[in-house]
Formats: sequence, structure tokens, C-alpha cells
Amino acid sequence: MNTSRESVYLDYQSAKPVDPRVVEAMEPFLHDRFGNPSSLHAVGDDATDTLDRSRETVARFLGARPAEVVFTSGATESSNLAIIGYAMRNRRKGDHIVISEMEHISIHNIAKYLEKNGFQVSRVPLDQFGQINLAKLRGRIRDETILISVGMASNEIGTVQPIREIAEMLEGKGIVLHTDAVAAQGLLSLDVDGLGIDLMPLSSNAFYGPRGLGALYIRKGTRLSPMLIGGGQERGLRSGSENMPAIVGMARAVEILGEEMDDEVDRLRGYRDRLIGGLLDSVPKTYLNGHPEQRLASNAHFRFTGIEGESLLLRLRDEGIQVATGSACSSKTLEPSHTLIACGLLHEEAHGSLELTLGRWNGPEDVDRALEAIPKVVSDLRALSPLYKEDE
Ligand code: PMP
Repeated sequence: MNTSRESVYLDYQSAKPVDPRVVEAMEPFLHDRFGNPSSLHAVGDDATDTLDRSRETVARFLGARPAEVVFTSGATESSNLAIIGYAMRNRRKGDHIVISEMEHISIHNIAKYLEKNGFQVSRVPLDQFGQINLAKLRGRIRDETILISVGMASNEIGTVQPIREIAEMLEGKGIVLHTDAVAAQGLLSLDVDGLGIDLMPLSSNAFYGPRGLGALYIRKGTRLSPMLIGGGQERGLRSGSENMPAIVGMARAVEILGEEMDDEVDRLRGYRDRLIGGLLDSVPKTYLNGHPEQRLASNAHFRFTGIEGESLLLRLRDEGIQVATGSACSSKTLEPSHTLIACGLLHEEAHGSLELTLGRWNGPEDVDRALEAIPKVVSDLRALSPLYKEDE
């Protein structure tokens, strides 16, 4: 794990190391226990048992039934299956979906794809803290609305959405609630019944499992058209030989969280609050992006007047501190973050933002290093900036 002493890693939202206990659990499934659950011999039976047990473990963690969990290649595939699969299968019920402006880029692009294919899409704006306005959401619902997608939390600014209230609002309307839970995995309860979620994509790496694996929770009775057609695995919803080592890894990652999540969240929240308090106190003209209270325990997101997030990222990188300016999934575009713009930030404010996300292998010394380096780098960059005036 290269989260070594010299390098401080504060970008857990983009990628997490696989927990060594997960690697240990996966190992035998790469050689000795290599079976395919579709085979009828003993090696295949071992794989079938393992697949069943892994599915039970993941389902239990969500308060779901095993038959409601389908393994996929990741959250992107799960959202495709969930949203496009539901829209295509249920088109006769209606051709309108609603998404929040906070959604992950994958959901925005799925919505655009559906628009090109004759569906109507409405988008719900965010307030300055990144939360959706329930009244505005209610106002977007029509007779033809079949699905609403609101992520559990922002992978960028960490704002948590009122999912239970949204589900209550939808009760009895025959509209399914799709909630991308990836940013909240390992940080918030994913109890699908308590929250009232019908479709929930998950990404194994967000639980400290291997990348390239995910799952989709599908509430019983929610009918989807498959996206991958083939041998009929995963009850026909996701054909292709099951990625057994990764499935075992995801189940082990979930088991570990079942034991450790509460303590981990408390620890991360302590670090987060020290980062937020420390930087807001020590760096003038610094603001917190996202919600002051309804935010993920791992997320600290700032904007610094007068400097570019990119310059800050590169200078911190020289200091051995790895941070982000926004979502890794859209970091190669020059566009400012759609989430920050939806919160009402100007382009230059969005470009002056820095995202710090904490995780399992951060310690108090990482927070100390960040609190030492960031004020110094911000002040150096501001001294060079013709745009920054201290007394304005
Ligand atoms: N949703 C969110 C909120 C994400 O942060 C990501 C990226 N990790 C995804 C979906 C896509 O997940 P995957 O890479 O597993 O397809």
C-alpha cells in the first residue's frame, strides 16, 4: 500500500487501496478454487456455494434479500442496468425521469442517452450547500414520471441528500427511487428498507475491495431489461462468467465494514473536523464547499479566493501530499465541476477548489502535514497572483 510515511494520501474518494485482509480472502480463488459457478462438477459447486455466500453477505449488509443483489463490473454498469434497464422495460408506464444536479457524471450521461432515445429528463437544482430542494423535486414529478435518481451523497463536496424524505414523498406514486450510494459506501447506513431505495448501484472499491466489480440492489418486483445479453448469469440480468475472486473480495470487504464501520467513521470525522477547523482558522478568505453538517465524515472541500485548485494540487504534490480538485471521473476535462456550478459558484470559484478525502490508512500525522503545508502553499501562490488582494 503506497500510503507511506513520505506521501500523504488525501484522495480516498477517487481510489482506495484494497484492504490486505480482502486480498488474503481473494487469493485462493485465483488458483486453487478457480471454478466457474456454471460448471456441474465439484470445482463448480465450490464456486456456486461461494457465490451464494458472497451474495448473502452483501445482501445482509444492505438489509436486502440475496435475490435482490446482482453482481456487475462496477457502479457505472449498475447504474446503466438500473436506469436504462428500468426505462426500457417500463416505457409503457411513462417516458419521464428526474435526476438531481448533484448526480455523478455517469448518471448525467445516462440521462442524456435516454433523452436521445426519446425520454424526457428533468433536473432538480441544488441549494448553495449542494442539497436538493424537496419542493422543487415534487414540482418536477408528472404523471409520466417512472424513475427518480438522487445520489446518497456527493462524491465531490460530500453533501448528504435526504433520501428517506424523498422515498416518503414517492410513496404510493409508483415511481422507483434510484440512489447511487458509491460516495457514501462505508460511511453511511445502506439499509435499503429503512431508506426506501428501489435501485442502488455499488462499487466494490468504495468498500476497500477490488476495482472492476460492483453490485446492483434491485428491490423485489422491480423489472429491468438486461444490458448484457449472453449466457444468462445473474438471473439473466447480467450475463458473463462471474468474477469470483473479486466477488469474494467485495464480500470480505463488506464483512470488515460490518465490524469496523462505526469506529472508522468516528475516527475520520475527527480528522475531517480538524482539517476543516484548522484551514478555515488559519487561511484567510477560505470557504467550505458543501453542507456544514450534512456531509460525509471523510470529506473536506474548500475554495481559496485568488488561486487555482490545479496550481495548489501540483504544489502540494511537490510537498508529497496527494489531493484532488474534484471528481477523478471528470478530472481530465477543463470544465469546472458541474456540482459546484449547481451550488451557485462562479467558474473562478469552482476552479479555486480543493477536495480532501480521508480513509482507512490516514492517521493524525497526515492531518498535521496537511495543516502545515496547505496554508504555506496557499500563501505562496497568493503572493504570486495578480488577482489576489488581501484587503478586498
Ligand atoms: N458513482 C460515484 C458517486 C462515483 O464516485 C463513481 C466512481 N468511483 C461511480 C459512480 C462509478 O463507479 P465505478 O468506477 O465502479 O463504475
